[in-house]
Amino acid sequence: MPELPEVETIRRQLEPEVVGRRITEAEVFDERWTRPNPPSALEEAVAGRAIEAAERRGKYLILRLEGDRALVMHLRMTGNLLLRPADVPDESVADLMETDRFGAPRLYESTPQLRHLRARLALDDGSELLFTDARRFGHAVVLEGVEVDAYFAARLGIEPLGGALTPEALCEIAAGRTAPLKSFLLSQTGIAGIGNIYADEALFRARLHPLSPAGSMKAEHCEDLVEAIVDALEVALANRGSSIDDYRDARGERGSMQDEFLVHTREGELCPRCGGTIRRIVVGGRSTYFCPDCQRRLRRRRRTRRAASRA
Ligand SMILES: [Zn+2]
Repeated sequence: MPELPEVETIRRQLEPEVVGRRITEAEVFDERWTRPNPPSALEEAVAGRAIEAAERRGKYLILRLEGDRALVMHLRMTGNLLLRPADVPDESVADLMETDRFGAPRLYESTPQLRHLRARLALDDGSELLFTDARRFGHAVVLEGVEVDAYFAARLGIEPLGGALTPEALCEIAAGRTAPLKSFLLSQTGIAGIGNIYADEALFRARLHPLSPAGSMKAEHCEDLVEAIVDALEVALANRGSSIDDYRDARGERGSMQDEFLVHTREGELCPRCGGTIRRIVVGGRSTYFCPDCQRRLRRRRRTRRAASRA
């Protein structure tokens, strides 16, 4: 599933290509993509508008459109957002006439990544933005003005890159939370953008056990974890993300971060730090990889002081 580094990779590739371009036509081939809104509402809301910025918040990709409007997209499990350049030759008209069961032109069947085309945005230079999604959990919504901030405020916590996530901020949002660190990192409402892969990688780097209660972290642990999160995400960005399964960047190419994982998917292999054996457990329904020998299990903080003062 694409996480912050994968979505940010796409954003960085799109920014120089699409900002300043105008969306000449929008076509939605699968009504699940815009649910509960009808596809026609999204098509009409974005068609004819210029793209003013390409932004990211958590795992969401945002195209800011003229008129204080934003097209917000989430790739979920298997979504891809591909940029088809203007210089790709047109297929024959006959091919264009045929459509698949969602009404997407057969033209795209010839390119494996485009087999599951859900939506298409045509730009004024002849290029196209194509949203493909095998499992159809991906989603898009058009928001106006202040709706954008409210939308993310309800869903996302602090952005881990850019300096907002300080050790103090982390300790503050983790305080009192009994959820395991792994689940805490996945929640999005504490820290935005971290998923199953980078939660494992960050906890390993910070030497913290995934089952430790989030609220058990002391100042030094929050410091280690912030540094670990930033490092894990930066390394992934440098590798253009991880392509374990469906993820491709905006050019349709695979990332290479999967070759650099320290613990994720490495069950039974040797720990790169201490030589112990990497284990897999399930936390909150998600496969979790860690080294039991060098990732410390923190105990829940006991309220001894308060108990003592009451006695
Ligand atoms: Zn180890």
